[in-house]
Amino acid sequence: MSSRIHHLSCATLCPAAGRVPGLMPSRLVAHCLLVEGPGGLTLVDTGFGTADVADPAGRLGRTFALATGARLSTADTAIAQVRALGFDPREVGDIVLTHLDADHAGGISDFPWARVHVHRDELATARGRRGRLGRTRYSARQWQHGPQWVEHAADGDDWFGFESVRAVGDDVLLVPLRGHTVGHCGVAVRRPSGGWFLHAGDSYFFRGEKQTPPSSPPGIRVFQAIMEMDHAARLANQDRLRELHAGSGDEVTIFCAHDEIEFDAAAAHIDGRTVR
Ligand SMILES: [Zn+2]
Repeated sequence: MSSRIHHLSCATLCPAAGRVPGLMPSRLVAHCLLVEGPGGLTLVDTGFGTADVADPAGRLGRTFALATGARLSTADTAIAQVRALGFDPREVGDIVLTHLDADHAGGISDFPWARVHVHRDELATARGRRGRLGRTRYSARQWQHGPQWVEHAADGDDWFGFESVRAVGDDVLLVPLRGHTVGHCGVAVRRPSGGWFLHAGDSYFFRGEKQTPPSSPPGIRVFQAIMEMDHAARLANQDRLRELHAGSGDEVTIFCAHDEIEFDAAAAHIDGRTVR
C-alpha cells in the first residue's frame, strides 16, 4: 500500500497557439506522480530531464521544442523535485510511463538505475520511429543510456471495466488507453485512504473532455487530431473515460497529463484528503 502520493509538474509548455484567446490554454503542465511505497519510490511519467534542459535542440529537436513551446528549467525536472522533497534519487526504483513522447520520457535518463515500465507496443513503436509523427514525437536520445525496460501487455485483469496490468505491486497499474499513441496507457494508483487516481496521460488534454457532454477549446481538438496514431481507439477511449468519470463517484479521480486546473485540484489531495 502506498503511504503518500506527491503531484509534481515536471515541464511547462506554452504553445504559441495559446496566445490566441480561447484557442488553447496558454500554459500546460506535465503532471507526474511520486508514489511512496513499501518497496521504495515510484515515478509515474517524468516530464523533461536535466539533459533536455542542457541540450533542448539535440535531445528534443527544434520542431518539437517549437511546437510545444517547452520552457525548460532544471528546477522542474523530476530529479530536482525528488531531492527538494528530501529523498535520495536512488530510492526511485521504478518509473511507470503512460507513453514515450519526449515530454513524458525525458526524465528517465536521470534515474538510470530504475526499472522503466511501459506497454510493449509503445516501446516497439518508439524504437521503430516510423513516419513523420514517429520521428518527431519520440527522442531516441532520451533512452540511449539503455534503461532497464520492463515491457507489459494486458493479461486479463480488470479495473473498473478496463483491462489492466500490474506494473508495481498491486497499487500501480497500467491501463491500456490506445489512441494518442499505439501503446498509450493510463496509470492507476491506489490512494492511501482508499480509491484510486487515474493518470490518463494524453488520452485527453482538457478537463472539459471528461465531462458529459465533452467540451474543449478548438486548438486542443486540432492538436490531438494531429498527434493521434489511432483515431477510432482514441475517441472510443475518451467515451469510456467519460463513463468512468460519471459513474465512479469519489472512487476514481481522473486527470490527464497537461491540464493545469486538474493538476492543482489533484495536488490539493494529501494522502487522499483534500487540504485547503
Ligand atoms: Zn504529452
